[in-house]
Amino acid sequence: MPLKDIEKRRAYDRERGKTAERKAQKKVANWKSRGINITWEDYERMYHAQKGRCPISGETFALGELVPDHDHETGYVRALICGKCNTALGMLGDRREMVYRLLKYIRATDIDQYEKGIRNLEAERKEALRRSEQAMKNIMAGS
Ligand SMILES: [Zn+2]
Repeated sequence: MPLKDIEKRRAYDRERGKTAERKAQKKVANWKSRGINITWEDYERMYHAQKGRCPISGETFALGELVPDHDHETGYVRALICGKCNTALGMLGDRREMVYRLLKYIRATDIDQYEKGIRNLEAERKEALRRSEQAMKNIMAGS
């Protein structure tokens, strides 16, 4: 590689490094303005400890793509999670009872079919529907 190209490459890498640093600073400032107490160093350490994975969806993301999930009262960061899971958590508004009820609903209506791998079998579909209806009655009855 000619010297000129090497110099160009180094300048490019330096500029890229500065861009990444600026992006990181911007993220930290944005988090801070929303009461989320985390430094970029903390973020990177957590990211690597989680191997870039969202603990809820299990999907892997690039550095900077996961968002810090935090306790709204203290501002402490619980973990880094993906945008989708953060949205889901945000919509449930940290209402644990609602989360448990959602889980109960999913389990009651869905998980049996999923676990058994039932696919379009009419009799089993009808049985699953009957069980879902029964589960809904139970949920509505508060049992
Ligand atoms: Zn996720």
